[in-house]
Amino acid sequence: MCRHLGWLGRSVSVASLLLEPANGLLVQSYSPRRQKHGLMNADGWGVGFFDGRTPRRWRSAAPLWGDASFASVAPALGSGCIVAAVRSASVGMPIEPSASAPFTDGHWLLSHNGLVDRAVLPLSEKAESTCDSAVLAALIFERGLDALGDTIVEVADADPNARLNILAGNGSRLLATTWGDTLSTLRRDDGVVLASEPYDDNPDWQEVPDRHLVSVLGRDIELIPLKGS
Ligand code: GLN
Repeated sequence: MCRHLGWLGRSVSVASLLLEPANGLLVQSYSPRRQKHGLMNADGWGVGFFDGRTPRRWRSAAPLWGDASFASVAPALGSGCIVAAVRSASVGMPIEPSASAPFTDGHWLLSHNGLVDRAVLPLSEKAESTCDSAVLAALIFERGLDALGDTIVEVADADPNARLNILAGNGSRLLATTWGDTLSTLRRDDGVVLASEPYDDNPDWQEVPDRHLVSVLGRDIELIPLKGS
């Protein structure tokens, strides 16, 4: 399983969210604390952020801890909406930059933490990679993010073993699902963090129960149960 993180709020640096916290994505790439599947996340990483309304991405198929260029530039990258991930590739999936989240349709940045049988997903020419997460992202973009909860329930019906934690942002909103793995929220004075696991020991982190849709607008965090069969 991968680990992902989303930010919505005032403009902050990518380094302050990913690299500086005691248990940020950088540390989670080699020593995650709550990961249920896989020991580390060495198969790539990606950071996406909104520059005005334009999503911009930096993705790699190498471990985050080895990227000195990113560490050098990350303090100077700032945004009010950020979606980032470190990757532990599922068995049989390609390891290439285009398989690292976040994926995009030009409006949303989206990460998938989990596993899904590609046989239950429609083939899409728009998938950025043959990786299951990229094919799933193409389906979610095709259906529209307003239907995210319905799409997840439908995919879970088709593949009962699927784990479907999604995290997506469009510059003014974050959406996430819990379906088989962990997610926590943190409300800060300057914004909201959604993360697979807390990046520090702040007692304000709250765990999201499994099978929920999370919607963040401004500083409001709404949790909606998802009904699966
Ligand atoms: N199945 C996806 C992949 O192979 C995501 C893996 C994960 O969550 N670790 O990239």
